[in-house]
Amino acid sequence: MQQRVVFLGTGGTIAGQAESSQDNVSYQAAQIEVGKLLEAIPGLRGQLRGALLHSEQVFQFNSKDLNPCHWQQLQGRVVHYLSQADVRGIVITHGTDTAEETAYFLARTVPEALLCSKPVVITCAMRPATSAHSDGPQNMVDALCVATTEGAHGVLLLCSATVHSALRVQKVHLYRLDAFDSGEAGPVGVVEEGQFRLFGAWPELLETVTHRSLSPQAPTKQDWPRVEIVTSHAGANGASVRAMCAHTAQGDSPLRGIVVAGTGNGDIHHDLAQALNDAQAQGVRVIRTSRCATGSVVLAQPNDTDPKLFEASPLSAVKARIALMLELLD
Ligand code: ASP
Repeated sequence: MQQRVVFLGTGGTIAGQAESSQDNVSYQAAQIEVGKLLEAIPGLRGQLRGALLHSEQVFQFNSKDLNPCHWQQLQGRVVHYLSQADVRGIVITHGTDTAEETAYFLARTVPEALLCSKPVVITCAMRPATSAHSDGPQNMVDALCVATTEGAHGVLLLCSATVHSALRVQKVHLYRLDAFDSGEAGPVGVVEEGQFRLFGAWPELLETVTHRSLSPQAPTKQDWPRVEIVTSHAGANGASVRAMCAHTAQGDSPLRGIVVAGTGNGDIHHDLAQALNDAQAQGVRVIRTSRCATGSVVLAQPNDTDPKLFEASPLSAVKARIALMLELLD
């Protein structure tokens, strides 16, 4: 059976257009359809290793504007294609801003039975497609290389020839082409001259959640538990948390959880902690993480459950938020 590699377009700078080919900053993201991006890459077909190419535009957004319904829509298309025997792997073109959130969501919600043998490679660009020195085409070619590599599986993110796992990856630079990092764990591997080089082992799959809860007929924003993120800092206070708890404007779903990006080892200013304690007493789940770029909250004892400290997550704040939203779905 001839195999297929599927490209799913979702927007981002990789599909962006500027008025000048020298302009890498003031452009419109999410303008060019993924099929057109593929057509514009010279020699792409030569990289297919015998597979056929298929593309679909799932949506067309600057990724800063995505919401859980978009994740859910994309997850549906990923599951649809991965379920087909002739599909070898998927490449998703995506904005860099929230690519790590989409990666984590897919890693948590696409059934393990599909991800254990096939890869989903998210790729992106830091310069628009119209740039004289656009990085998007090379990233797409490199992502295709990973998607057709023997043994590749799970949700990965490729940027600037470097492959990261969905669990570890974080955008760490707002302008550099090599904008992502995997912290202390390091990347999964690199693409060099059309060959993928694995550094150690493929990352382990994340524990999946019940798939059925992600397939309602008509998902709406209101179906997703509302979880907000607050940051602790010098001079932090509880005003925003109190406002969040009090405010249920028309159309807003009730607040179900708060993730705190704490200072250092997940520490929280005492005024903010007081407001969070009050929120927790009202039934709002509170999870603490760290605002530090690397490291995970370290507990004095592995089973430290002191309620005053709030439950800790080893994830970044944005991923801890997704984890809590998925947990609260049930
Ligand atoms: N704001 C853009 C997006 O995330 C940035 C990018 O793609 O690099 O869609």
